[in-house]
Amino acid sequence: MESIKKLADMILESQYAIAFTGAGASTESGIPDFRGPNGLWKQYRAEEIASRWALENNTHDFFEFYRMRLAAMENIKPNRVHYGLAELENMGLLKAVITQNIDGLHKKAGSKRVYEIHGNIREAYCDRCGKKYPAEKLLEEDIPTCDVCGGIVRPNVVLFGEGLPQDQWIGAVREAEAADLVLSIGSSLTVYPAAMIPITVKEAGGKLVIINLEPTGYDSMADLVIHEKAGDVIEALLEEIKNRG
Ligand code: NAD
Repeated sequence: MESIKKLADMILESQYAIAFTGAGASTESGIPDFRGPNGLWKQYRAEEIASRWALENNTHDFFEFYRMRLAAMENIKPNRVHYGLAELENMGLLKAVITQNIDGLHKKAGSKRVYEIHGNIREAYCDRCGKKYPAEKLLEEDIPTCDVCGGIVRPNVVLFGEGLPQDQWIGAVREAEAADLVLSIGSSLTVYPAAMIPITVKEAGGKLVIINLEPTGYDSMADLVIHEKAGDVIEALLEEIKNRG
């Protein structure tokens, strides 16, 4: 495929390539995306459930929803996209992965430099004092509470109505400023400020590649757009790079 050859050229010529991933990177693992045809938001309204408002005012349903999401992710494994990006990092061709996903699959696949800018659902913390807990804490009680201060223990995910974790976000912005190539993989690029990461690379003179099943609002600004399954693209890219020796 011509576009895979071009993608291989771009990554081999780059000095500092990064990947920016969204829910579409994990659909092959069996986790539905939010806005695709089978997306989660077709079943639930985000503002009502995965929000700061729900944590405070619809607390029971909030925890029911997160327990359901945790259960759904229990036996989930990384797929070709996660493993492929980890391999590219090992080969020295990818410097970092910035992900909007909360499933922790990039780290599980072996990627080392990962920024989880929307948090990680396998972790929890006290909303009042910040004490960290494993996600199992969320299964203990209907509304789990902190051993130290009695505050509510909530999942370590960014809710609608909250800011991003500063350490992860600042690190991600630094990576974007350093990058001369960004691969945006499986993201509708509609969630802000996350979507600013690939745009920052492009606006600073770097190249933007969009790999997504459906068109995005940024396709016209991209240097290369591939509307294929991310797993097929990453697999073909690795094969092309290996064939070139
Ligand atoms: P999104 O749901 O808005 O968009 C996902 C995009 O991926 C869609 O445009 C879809 O066409 C595309 N896609 C689906 N399967 C694909 C595949 N196999 N190959 C290529 N593209 C594919 O997701 P988003 O942009 O990440 O934004 C949604 C927010 O939802 C994020 O903030 C993220 O935190 C959260 N989220 C996370 C998970 C997860 O952790 N796995 C799952 C759902 C949503």
